[in-house]
Amino acid sequence: MIHVAGLGASGSYLFRRLKDGGFNAMGYDPKKPGFYIPCGYAVNFEKLKELARAVNLDAGEYIEATADTVTFASDSGARIELPARGFCTIDKNRIEKDIMGDYKFERRMAPAPTDEQILVDATGISRHYLGNARGDLQMRTKEYLTETAPERGFHFRYFPSGRGYYWVFPLKNGYHIGAGGDTIDMVSGALKSINDTKKVMSRNIRLSPLFDQAYSGNIIGVGEAIGTVSPITGEGIIPSMESADILFNCISRYDDLETLKERYVAEIKKKFRRYEKLFSLLVNARQGRLKKFGNLLAISSAKEDFQNFGIQLEILKVLKQLAKN
Ligand SMILES: Cc1cc2nc3c(=O)[nH]c(=O)nc-3n(C[C@H](O)[C@H](O)[C@H](O)COP(=O)(O)OP(=O)(O)OC[C@H]3O[C@@H](n4cnc5c(N)ncnc54)[C@H](O)[C@@H]3O)c2cc1C
Repeated sequence: MIHVAGLGASGSYLFRRLKDGGFNAMGYDPKKPGFYIPCGYAVNFEKLKELARAVNLDAGEYIEATADTVTFASDSGARIELPARGFCTIDKNRIEKDIMGDYKFERRMAPAPTDEQILVDATGISRHYLGNARGDLQMRTKEYLTETAPERGFHFRYFPSGRGYYWVFPLKNGYHIGAGGDTIDMVSGALKSINDTKKVMSRNIRLSPLFDQAYSGNIIGVGEAIGTVSPITGEGIIPSMESADILFNCISRYDDLETLKERYVAEIKKKFRRYEKLFSLLVNARQGRLKKFGNLLAISSAKEDFQNFGIQLEILKVLKQLAKN
């Protein structure tokens, strides 16, 4: 028996794949229907399309707004427009609900697993079952659902020294405008001019990959619980679904729990190697050590990371723009 605790992006996807695959599984999530968990809802459509196909859904039905370009700004006023390929917002709540299909689940926390059972911790930031992790770096975030926005189109603004960012992501009928940073003052400061708010949401986001702390006994983590979030863009929806896909394949392939866990972590590390490099880059930026040689190597990981999110990062264009400002 496999208990999946948490039915957000990663848990719902894993649960559906397990049920479709004929596994004996049960899902648990105490969240009330329609509960709005803060998230910008931005994904790369091309990646979502593939993942959705595996659960018989058409990703096109969930698109809210599509980007042709994305504006990046710095606090000093430098701006650059980068072409988008696949970058869009989706109705995340609706797709998660549809991923669950008609499968029954329980609106409560999961019971403690017995020795013969596996519990999958898909509880996101809380890591409710795996517990606290060493070196867990989290950023404070606040997000508004609004009708209007001060910037046009899809927009990011980075704070100095990698200490956070502000975003505007258009939806079908409104915007997600948010900010993430080290302190709540930093976050509130970035959002102080926004007053037309329909909803205000707040939670932390995990920036540190925790792949070496992805399991404990018969509890295995997936998604943001193990840090499948980009340390430089905050992208976590598709990576969390991809981690669920990896876990599903390992569960299907390996009967022995120890082998399953080892293979799972190895595959996760391979797939998300760039997050470990980008996390070091972030830590170096925060400590003012951006000139370190390792950071140069992380540039190609940054390019790969933006590309995965659906944004074409043109390094030369960025360097030229920086030289101008
Ligand atoms: C403000 C903000 C904006 C973001 N914007 C984006 C974005 O635009 N694009 C993007 O790709 N990523 C974004 N992210 C990151 C992304 O939302 C997450 O990384 C992703 O949703 C993680 O998926 P998950 O399934 O691991 O966890 P979640 O989606 O957080 O799901 C966890 C689930 O576990 C449930 N749960 C909690 N505790 C328990 C328990 N004890 N028992 C059972 N269930 C429990 C919760 O109710 C929830 O449903 C953003 C994050 C934040 C905070």
